[in-house]
Amino acid sequence: MIKALLVLVVLSCQVFALPLHWPVPGGVAVIPIGVIESATFNGRPVMTLSTADDAYAVIGLPLSTQPGEHELVVGKRHIGFTVLAHEYETQSLTIKNRRQVNPLAEDMTRIARERQEMDQAFLHFDREIAADTDFQTPTVGPQSSSFGLRRILNGQPRNPHSGMDIAAPEGSPILAPAGGKVVAMGNYFFNGNTVLIDHGQGLITLYCHLSSIDVSMGDNLAPGDAIGKVGQTGRVTGPHLHWGVSLSNARVNPALFLKSEQR
Ligand SMILES: [Zn+2]
Repeated sequence: MIKALLVLVVLSCQVFALPLHWPVPGGVAVIPIGVIESATFNGRPVMTLSTADDAYAVIGLPLSTQPGEHELVVGKRHIGFTVLAHEYETQSLTIKNRRQVNPLAEDMTRIARERQEMDQAFLHFDREIAADTDFQTPTVGPQSSSFGLRRILNGQPRNPHSGMDIAAPEGSPILAPAGGKVVAMGNYFFNGNTVLIDHGQGLITLYCHLSSIDVSMGDNLAPGDAIGKVGQTGRVTGPHLHWGVSLSNARVNPALFLKSEQR
């Protein structure tokens, strides 16, 4: 049913290179605003885009957003919009390396430092950079685990799945889905070899578990440039790309940024 709804909404906004309007926790609200003024949602800066017909605010809705009435502030205007409820399914996984489910005390320092590095990138917001939201899929393969699943690892509840998993074979190329700049990278405890790309206006993408990284910090990438190769580094059950999309520091469903045939 969700697919059918997605298709309907896509048809209604396909002419714009905007993400899909899917106002649920973990989704994106695309709100017409008439003229571009600086916009905020819950105190966080919000992406604004112009199309041939109108101007829009594009709001990233954290998975923790409460369904119901919310308010976007645009200049001096207050624009109400509704966040709909959405139930995500539960997924149970068995991780062989128990240390990756219950890290040792000595791992916690490393995990905290890596989280801070990534959070810094996720919080970056530059109104001067025009955001590129017209994404190509970064690698080709079946989606093995979808966004928002509530995760049970070795019987213990963990954070919901904050990205899309694409089960491409090890060594498959990973290509930049849009133009952007490499703002963080490293070999992280949970995420393995990881790259973060800033596309402007709070839109940051994340690539995890790579077997190799083909970019350097600060590289400016064009759409289709090589980022690295699919691997199984970090906490995984097999080779795949974990692809994350963050908007105003909210992890949102990457599928909303793909063309309907790639979703
Ligand atoms: Zn994943």
